[in-house]
Amino acid sequence: MAKVLIIGAGGVSGVVVHKCAALPEVFSEIMLASRTKEKCDAIAAQLSRPIQTAQVDADNVPELVALIKSFGPELVINVALPYQDLHIMDACLEAGVHYLDTANYEPPDTAKFEYKWQWAYQDRFKNAGLMAVLGSGFDPGVTSVFCHYIQKHYLDEIHTIDIIDVNAGDHGYPFATNFNPEINIREVTAKGRYWQEGEWIETAPLSVKHRFEVPENIATPNIYLMYHEELESLAKHIPHLKRARFWMSFGDSYLKHLEVLGNVGMTRIDEVEFQGQKIIPLQFLRALLPDPASLGPRTKGKTWIGCQVTGLKDGEQKTYVIYNICDHQECYREVQSQAISYTTGVPAFIGAKMVLEQKWSGTGVFNMEQLDPDPFMEDLNSYGLPWKVVEGPVIDLG
Ligand code: NDP
Repeated sequence: MAKVLIIGAGGVSGVVVHKCAALPEVFSEIMLASRTKEKCDAIAAQLSRPIQTAQVDADNVPELVALIKSFGPELVINVALPYQDLHIMDACLEAGVHYLDTANYEPPDTAKFEYKWQWAYQDRFKNAGLMAVLGSGFDPGVTSVFCHYIQKHYLDEIHTIDIIDVNAGDHGYPFATNFNPEINIREVTAKGRYWQEGEWIETAPLSVKHRFEVPENIATPNIYLMYHEELESLAKHIPHLKRARFWMSFGDSYLKHLEVLGNVGMTRIDEVEFQGQKIIPLQFLRALLPDPASLGPRTKGKTWIGCQVTGLKDGEQKTYVIYNICDHQECYREVQSQAISYTTGVPAFIGAKMVLEQKWSGTGVFNMEQLDPDPFMEDLNSYGLPWKVVEGPVIDLG
């Protein structure tokens, strides 16, 4: 029985709140706070159980500390934007509560995501006797737990990891993003980067691709090599690792739109003078694009996210693939959201449950692959994200 404060009221938050509200024996009291209180109230109105809502600017640390102290939660779940991570961690330290998020900190003025800023909180969380769980979404999040699970139960040594994220869903719009458009476009337009033998190797954005016949007849999209934040923590925490890469599927129409938007300057993140006002083109574009939270009723199809892992078992080379399939329409029926928000929100809820039930405990800052995968994997099966392990590769990625 514990109180939890959830910050942010977007697509992912809607799922976290639904899932926590459905488990009152763990989440006995819930407060949902965000920049726009009406969005919190709209989510609260979908629930069969009352929760508290509040307005808060999470970048205003004293305001947030006051809110945390007045409500008195054991844990803060941060499902606002990556820009808020450090401010929310500061507030948690000051108020003496545990912290969990789904995406690592990004400075607003540089499209760069690295763990160094959040890892720098290690001693402060340790000394305060508090736990900070970083990246409890699907990727990062479940993908890291998948790798740790393969290491624990299938291989003696992991040598290579290829994380593959396929969204074969169709929302019917010529161009829309499935989660926050600003964060999504910053991520996709960045250079590709993978880790090999202790070095980071860079590739031009979206320049390396493969055709992928996704198991279980989900789709046959192109998948593109990208940088993704869990590569950094997996490289640090998985012993014997020789290479880690991340691949994501994109449709041709999405890429064509992105190319044109980039060519005309609409994905820029620096300030531009427009009619006497300073605007950031990518933020303006965000205002024009469909709200990801509104895609739920119209998105059809499935997601397939998994890890292809190679390594040694009893001296023999082995390959295992561990994956989840999620259906957009089934997610919508359950929690009124599409599968991208669902596959992020459910792991955030399970991560929070692990901390509150003390199945995960410790002091300091933790990435997901550092924690026991077994209770988390069990809950993925129980709460909507069942997974499978198969032996042998599903794709030759060279
Ligand atoms: P949305 O843009 O839909 O929601 C973000 C919410 O945060 C909005 O309600 C917004 O308020 C609120 N917010 C923004 N700034 C502040 C602030 N200063 N104070 C309080 N609230 C604030 O994003 P998503 O739900 O799509 O994504 C949420 C998080 O999940 C992001 O960090 C994203 O990167 C991460 N994510 C992680 C994935 C994973 O697998 N690990 C996958 C997908 C997303 P307002 O409503 O006023 O704009």
